[in-house]
Amino acid sequence: MENPKMWIGGKWVDAASGKTYPVFNPATGEEICQVPLGGQADVDAAVEAAKKAFPVWSKKGQTERSMVMMRIGKALRDNAKELGDLDILEHGTPARDAGPMAVFSAERIEYVSQVARGFMGSVMPLKPGVVFYLQREPIGVCALIIPWNVPLRMVAAKLGTALALGNACIVKPPSIDSLVALRFAKVLEELSDVLPAGAVNIVTGPGSTVGEALSRHPGVGLVSFTGSCETGKNIMAAASGTVKRVLLELGGKNPFIVMKDADLNAAVSKAVPIAFANTGQICAAPGRFYIHESMYDEFVQRFIEGAKKVVTGDPRDPATQMGPVVSAEHRDKVESFIKSGIDEGAKLILGGKRPDTPPLNKGYYVMPTVFANVTQNMKIAREEIFGPVVPILKFSSDDEALAYANDSTYALCASVWTKNISTALRFVNELEAGYVWVNDHMALASDQPWGGFKQSGIGKENSAMGLEEYTQVKAVSIQL
Ligand code: NAD
Repeated sequence: MENPKMWIGGKWVDAASGKTYPVFNPATGEEICQVPLGGQADVDAAVEAAKKAFPVWSKKGQTERSMVMMRIGKALRDNAKELGDLDILEHGTPARDAGPMAVFSAERIEYVSQVARGFMGSVMPLKPGVVFYLQREPIGVCALIIPWNVPLRMVAAKLGTALALGNACIVKPPSIDSLVALRFAKVLEELSDVLPAGAVNIVTGPGSTVGEALSRHPGVGLVSFTGSCETGKNIMAAASGTVKRVLLELGGKNPFIVMKDADLNAAVSKAVPIAFANTGQICAAPGRFYIHESMYDEFVQRFIEGAKKVVTGDPRDPATQMGPVVSAEHRDKVESFIKSGIDEGAKLILGGKRPDTPPLNKGYYVMPTVFANVTQNMKIAREEIFGPVVPILKFSSDDEALAYANDSTYALCASVWTKNISTALRFVNELEAGYVWVNDHMALASDQPWGGFKQSGIGKENSAMGLEEYTQVKAVSIQL
């Protein structure tokens, strides 16, 4: 594949240093191409370009901007095949999931563009002789720092929202999964008649240089970040120097709690596919399963039956349900969790190893892995694994389940499975999490706010609340 360039100020450019770095196909371990290794000079250029575009873009009427956003949505749909193919190639997303990715992304942008039309202000009756109103304004230049787990959807969610509201943007794609974002910029290039040059810039390169430079840059007004807690803390620290706004969507270790009166069929049927979707690399996926002792053995047995049927293989194959993890480095990290589970005395009852036959043995595969007899203090029950590794724990009372679930620095989301409405409401009220499902897990739509409590983040994305994050409110009082 031809080496791509970065997109700055409406032009395709190399890194100022001229340097590049390789990206790999996780299904084969082969190099796909070389991507520009951006740095401080490229970030400076992108911020200058965005600052120039901002007055042009932000002064357009909201109706006009929303119409442009609808065109972006359509362009994504028109390019769904190419975008999906790149997602398969660079991320290892199974074809059956990669195909609809651009369509979901387009839907998100179309949703935001419609909500934005009724969003930018309100008049409040104060007293006779005074007109008082609230005017929402875009923030200016937004840095959008993207994780690798669902790159296209993350770019669409952040860029769609920031742009629809009049901001100019710099996207920092994940260094290992940059190609989809660069292909997105090609889609935007086709709209250069309506989108000013510099309204969207893409700077590729490592988080420790490009991401850090964006987080510190005095020309950036907001850093919208999705990724790990550790990086989120670094970004907060870097952004504090210029009191930037930060929107942080961070990690999770999400409890999936099955009470003694739960519909076991429903719980297992949901648990298996979401545990291995995107090879376990989804922030909302369950990270620890708590099962009431009365049905623990049956749950484990049925879960294993389901997990054995998950088709793991070449992501290009339409039958594949689970592909590789994203990188060799990430595979090593997931495997170190498996080792710690074994060392700490959990019972490995499925998987735990790489496939050893060609062609899968060349890629970064970890087979579906399940641990039983896991206890609360084991590392696999406490830390985010972000891979196809499932720890199953036991509890004996409602109080114990709640105490275990809340015993975490993470609080992204949770689910409770029960037929008892009183139990359901008690858990809804007492679970520490930004999103709680009852008898479901991981069902999400654009109009539902998403964002964690505790160290899982600050602020919300999706829904009208998500739009608020990319604007600032000016209060205006006019004495007549
Ligand atoms: P990561 O934190 O390693 O990287 C995310 C992005 O930050 C990348 O673009 C990276 O290059 C950049 N980055 C790294 N160091 C940086 C620094 N010092 N300054 C600025 N930017 C920096 O995360 P990841 O491994 O790409 O993604 C996995 C993590 O993302 C998991 O913890 C997962 O839970 C989380 N996640 C959360 C949500 C959510 O909505 N809460 C959604 C998806 C993923």
